Amino acid sequence: SNARRTDDAKVVDELLAGLLTPGFDRRSCLSRYQAAHYYKYSPYKPSSYLLRKLREYETRHKKCAPGTPLYAKAVEQLRSGHATEAMECNYLVWLPYNGLGNLMLSLISTFVYALLTDRVVLVYSPGDFTDLFCEPFPDTTWILPPDFPLTNLSRLGLNPPQSYRNLLTRKMIVNDSTKATVDSLPPYVFLNLGHEKPYMDRLFYCEDDQLVLSKVSWLLVFSDLYFVPAMYPMVQYHDELQRLFPEKESVSHLIARYLLHPSNTVWGLVTRYYSSYLAQAKQRIGVQIRMFRFGTIPVDDMYNQILNCSRQEHILPEIAGDEELLEAGNATASGGSGSGDGSKAILIASLYGEYYERIRSMYYEHAAKGGVRVSVFQPSHEEVQATGKKGHDVRALAEIYLLSFSDVLLTSGDSTFGSISSSLAGRRPTILLVAYGFKVPKTPCVRAVSMEPCDLAPPRVRCKGYPADKDKEDVARHVKGCEDDRGGIKLF
Ligand code: GDP
Repeated sequence: SNARRTDDAKVVDELLAGLLTPGFDRRSCLSRYQAAHYYKYSPYKPSSYLLRKLREYETRHKKCAPGTPLYAKAVEQLRSGHATEAMECNYLVWLPYNGLGNLMLSLISTFVYALLTDRVVLVYSPGDFTDLFCEPFPDTTWILPPDFPLTNLSRLGLNPPQSYRNLLTRKMIVNDSTKATVDSLPPYVFLNLGHEKPYMDRLFYCEDDQLVLSKVSWLLVFSDLYFVPAMYPMVQYHDELQRLFPEKESVSHLIARYLLHPSNTVWGLVTRYYSSYLAQAKQRIGVQIRMFRFGTIPVDDMYNQILNCSRQEHILPEIAGDEELLEAGNATASGGSGSGDGSKAILIASLYGEYYERIRSMYYEHAAKGGVRVSVFQPSHEEVQATGKKGHDVRALAEIYLLSFSDVLLTSGDSTFGSISSSLAGRRPTILLVAYGFKVPKTPCVRAVSMEPCDLAPPRVRCKGYPADKDKEDVARHVKGCEDDRGGIKLF
């Protein structure tokens, strides 16, 4: 049975309303079915249409995966350097780019694009990817084999000659779907869908270009963005997205829980930490503090911003006044809090230790209002980002999941690390605004309009035969500007 009892005898739906398929070996990936016991909120159920498409995807993936005759056939064509006929299996080779949050969001977006285009996602993982995540699809693999014929994937950079832009410029490809026949097309195309605007293959977001790309068997997807919002206004995908996700706010939430399962190593850290420090609290408050080079401010300023935000949005427990303090002195030494409204655990995720030190001291030196017992924890403080270093990434991923078990989330603006945690948690976070131009923002934070991540660099593209104004109107129906990023867009 998939419904298991937890300690508090609550029946937990481990398969997340049909999102996950049964039948995996539990031990090979403990997080897959155990995560349901830790998540506090599941505000959106998957649509039956999404479930059908996921099951179809799984069948397709198994049929087309490395090791199958259809994969061999598609690879053969790639090796030959010439596309000659339409393939039964078509692929998205996903290339990792940037930190873990970026990577998770781009992988989710790539998978959604695969659902829309009947493709199969294969992951290029030169680094520690397989140490971090489990295989998501039953009886198959999504890891690109080492003998894949394109051997320079790590060195393509932002602007390789095989990028869609460059192929168009060199007339190696025509973006006119009436003229582009399979045998006139290259066997693979590199798509830069990352945040570097000068190199972005923005025509990817146009209808006619999609028709052309649909005839290319191998697409290499290079992105550090959550690019789902930019796909919503696309005519050929719009209705399908609506069917897959009747609630737009649910896209990343559902796909993150479906696709991304931390490895047993990461899950060990997560569950040990959770049971030691967080499980016994009545409420868990996740606080994620990220400081970017473009918005660095002194620790004092950031700390004040956190406190101001907390006061404004009632996030951290309030400090008691003097009268209450005297009464609190009468509480028993057994740890009982007079009012009995339980305890709160504050989990801090940050590269730095200072915020933890200060917040912990605050509750050491002052009692919280109402006799609430407050504990403050921080699993690690790595000081510097070291993406690609095994232990570092393992700890970072563990913290993303620990944050996702929070009841309340306070995250940092512009941070994909924070936003993937919110998606997984199924919570709309409060977002600390970024100190653009190194100025402490006047409003310390805002409540997010949705739990969806921000597409931090949406394309500005004028597609052929598409009046610019219509385009703008269309976009406005589906997305809002991000709370924390002037140029970004998000689903709500
Ligand atoms: P973003 O840069 O905030 O959008 O998030 P990313 O996850 O893409 O990149 C930041 C990287 O820095 C993470 O993947 C981690 O390697 C590291 N990092 C940032 N914040 C934290 C944190 O709170 N805890 C840990 N352990 N690592 C962090």
